[in-house]
Amino acid sequence: MKFGGTSIADGKKIRHVAQLLISYKEAGNQVVAITSALGGVTDGLLTNAAEASQKGKVSQVKEFMTDLAKKHYDAISDAIDNERIADEVIETIDIRIDELEKALIGICYLGELTPRSIDYISSYGERLAVPIISGSIRSLGTDSKPFTGGEAGISTTDDYGNARPLQKSYAQIRRTVGPLVENSIPVVTGFIAEDENGIITTLGRGGSDFTASLVGAAIQADEIWLWKEVHGIMTTDPKIVPEASTISQISYIEAMELSYFGAKVLHPRAIEPAIIHGIPVRVKNTFDTQFPGTLIVADQNCSEEVAKAVTLIRKVAAINICGAGMVGAIGTAAKIFTTLANAGVNIIMISQSSSEANMSLIIEQSHLKRAVKALEHAFNEGVVGEVAYDEDVCVVAVVGAGMDGSPGVAGKIFGALGKGKINVIMISQGSSQHNISFVVKEEDAEEAVKVLHREFGLGKKNGCN
Ligand code: ADP
Ligand code: ASP
Ligand code: MG
Repeated sequence: MKFGGTSIADGKKIRHVAQLLISYKEAGNQVVAITSALGGVTDGLLTNAAEASQKGKVSQVKEFMTDLAKKHYDAISDAIDNERIADEVIETIDIRIDELEKALIGICYLGELTPRSIDYISSYGERLAVPIISGSIRSLGTDSKPFTGGEAGISTTDDYGNARPLQKSYAQIRRTVGPLVENSIPVVTGFIAEDENGIITTLGRGGSDFTASLVGAAIQADEIWLWKEVHGIMTTDPKIVPEASTISQISYIEAMELSYFGAKVLHPRAIEPAIIHGIPVRVKNTFDTQFPGTLIVADQNCSEEVAKAVTLIRKVAAINICGAGMVGAIGTAAKIFTTLANAGVNIIMISQSSSEANMSLIIEQSHLKRAVKALEHAFNEGVVGEVAYDEDVCVVAVVGAGMDGSPGVAGKIFGALGKGKINVIMISQGSSQHNISFVVKEEDAEEAVKVLHREFGLGKKNGCN
């Protein structure tokens, strides 16, 4: 069972989570808990690390650390009744707060922030949370042991910020966490792990979903449950469309597409370990525990739903590479992709017109400068005439396995957008036919989501009944 940041935002919520875990354990289940950082902490760590490296203000670091320590002390006092356990947890928290403060002050002096140090700093969110949750469980009378991802056996590559778990992690997790589940509730930090040299790595933002799936697969859990503050995977982000409804059942592949195409509710790789081991994943609401939420399974036995959900990727940029010389010039696409790969640019979407005179790409906004620079350098003379770009675009996708072989879906999408006077900049359909995605200006994006959610009638009924 994984709990996100909102589920453990403060001491009262942590106590609720501890009680919930214990209730499942006492009902005869074996449970391992995975947790994120307390709500907002990871963002705070990242912002302050960046500011420390840019401004070098030690006083600002100290102020941040005082607030961070207070947030965690307050949580301890609300989540843990037992004085002895509270003192033990405070001792652990004090050591970590002290280490973190030293690291941030170091960054102030160095004026430098590497991907490796970003992972180290951001790991403190989860490393401060886990002792409190484990302490809260113990204070309610059930045995519990806290683990960092590394201690639990999660080994990764050293791709800081987006590390990949190594195969040996599964056996290691089974050895460390496995034996404890009989009589205890182990609590493991989500999001963070270690490379083979014992250096802290992270699995990317939102990575605790991925940790839960890894640990669940390693211990061969019957089910992996992701507890959030929403009622499951919904037909779209309820922050954009409040009348979005919960999808009661969805296939692994659809859930993966949804997360690839921006539904923040799930980390894009969270489903992979569950798929390999065929473990059902449930997404449930921490604050409405009786609500069934969403069940993610291999089979999709209710595919009459053409569209299941509408998603939105923000903070992307479009690059348009054009030139008459590109027509019939073999190897241009290869050169474009190699150039971008060498510059470390992740390509989200590709579209080439059949005239071959231009190619459009969607990339992360943060990669735009280096992408344009690399392309201009690589094509400074020859086939490419111009590298144009647009920073303020979004990708909208309609996802659903039912659109496979179902004619008229694209017509419905673009007809509705036309009626809504929304201009489409670029279109792409994966050959999986499980999604149709397109690009619009940022200012049109939420309206596009609303129009399509309405067009496919997604707010009225659940996706699978
Ligand atoms: P956690 O921290 O518990 O992992 P997240 O904040 O990462 O939770 O994910 C939940 C958020 O995802 C919700 O607050 C919601 O705004 C957003 N979201 C985006 N798309 C969807 C969707 N299709 N279904 C549910 N939530 C969504
Ligand atoms: N705390 C991490 C983040 O905010 C991981 C997670 O919440 O899943 O990205
Ligand atoms: Mg998340």
